[in-house]
Amino acid sequence: MSKEAIPYKIYLSESEIPKEWYNLNAVMKTKHEPFLNPGTLKPCTKEELSQVFCDECVEQELDRTHLHIEIPEEIRNFYKMYRPSPLVRAYCLEKALGTPAKIYYKFEGNNTSGSHKLNSAVAQAYYAKKQGLKSITTETGAGQWGTALSMAAAYFGLDLTVYMVKVSSEQKPQRREVMRTYGAKVIASPSDTTEAGRKILKEFPGTGGSLGCAISEAVEKAVTTDSCRYVLGSVLDHVVLHQSVIGQECKAAMEKYGIEPDMIIGCCGGGSNFGGLIAPFMGDKIAGKNNIDFVGVEPASCPSLTRGKYAYDFCDSAKITPLAKMYTLGCGFMPAPNHAGGLRYHGMSPIVSALYNQGYMRAVAVEQTKVFEAAEQFARIEGILPAPESSHAIRVAMDEALKCKETGEAKTILFGLTGTGYFDMSAYKQYNDGTMTDQIPTDADLERGFASLPDIPQNR
Ligand SMILES: *Cc1c(COP(=O)(O)O)cnc(C)c1O
Repeated sequence: MSKEAIPYKIYLSESEIPKEWYNLNAVMKTKHEPFLNPGTLKPCTKEELSQVFCDECVEQELDRTHLHIEIPEEIRNFYKMYRPSPLVRAYCLEKALGTPAKIYYKFEGNNTSGSHKLNSAVAQAYYAKKQGLKSITTETGAGQWGTALSMAAAYFGLDLTVYMVKVSSEQKPQRREVMRTYGAKVIASPSDTTEAGRKILKEFPGTGGSLGCAISEAVEKAVTTDSCRYVLGSVLDHVVLHQSVIGQECKAAMEKYGIEPDMIIGCCGGGSNFGGLIAPFMGDKIAGKNNIDFVGVEPASCPSLTRGKYAYDFCDSAKITPLAKMYTLGCGFMPAPNHAGGLRYHGMSPIVSALYNQGYMRAVAVEQTKVFEAAEQFARIEGILPAPESSHAIRVAMDEALKCKETGEAKTILFGLTGTGYFDMSAYKQYNDGTMTDQIPTDADLERGFASLPDIPQNR
């Protein structure tokens, strides 16, 4: 098909919203190692996980056989309010860069939460409701996840408590108000409402908190409250599963126009948006049907894939969650304060970690100022004010398109534009004022983080 035939925006119709999620765990030839109970060092049982998470999410978490998992109608109906999301051909960006590359992005910022996180929030809230639970808890860093879950909890009539990393709640009071408007109770973390919070406050008075710490508080609250479960916005396999709606829509939209990506780029915080974006394409790669270059992009300030260890680690800093085998900087790693809010997590999705370890994808770490340069250029050319997290993918997509300009290759590049940056204007202000710096951990900083890895036989 000729170039002109491809519109700026490729929309699917409502009836083309996927009816099933795509389970990467079912196609992986070598499955990732199971969660371990940190006490017994035995694989976590369904019963153990069900004390923390909703039953149906645990089923999905442990499902390594069903490639397609049905999306219940109630969830699809919610999806219809803001999906399908557009797949955009970045004609203007291509022109501005003078590249022969063809650039596409899947835009997930078209909902009030401003990011892809709503895709899993609505699923998890639905399953909590279906199980008859009264309330759910979670943590939020940059605030997109807390907002998404507030929307989903309000829709299904669940009470929600959000532990918000203290620095974020101070930097982004408007985010907090959005969550409260949807009915969520927002607590700055570390707080004195949990054992884990009190302990961290005592050890690090005045700390601005971290995602790992907020997770500890939310998990503790869930397991000590009746009819309550904890809900996580990334990292876990069932979250990657829910996010596969992104990749499946992408694939369907591309197939309509006979577009075959050479490269798929996504930012990696906990890995769920990237895992979801690549899911069906990666399934085909594993089956030998394509040779797409998959690139995960992370901040140089929190480089779990590019500089981390592939080891068993806790998912939180208070060491109360199960152990996951993943690329990690150590659950005690405290990233320097920066603006990659949603990417500041010490670990990485076990699925993405395994794909990386098995050589199915590569990873790149980029510096903050370079990311904001790309964000500014993108905003001016493509019109969308991107989230700092998403801008990591923009940076690498632009770099790859510029390489094509040198080599004359007309590669087809797809990247995930996970969200908008309206709540990140203090970061943009620093960039505009010229006061933004790049904080890259030294090897000694990393060693301190690695020292917090559990000293268990599996890690020796
Ligand atoms: C949370 C978030 C991310 C990181 O997502 P993961 O799935 O955890 O990697 C990226 N972009 C935006 C806009 C986010 O809100």
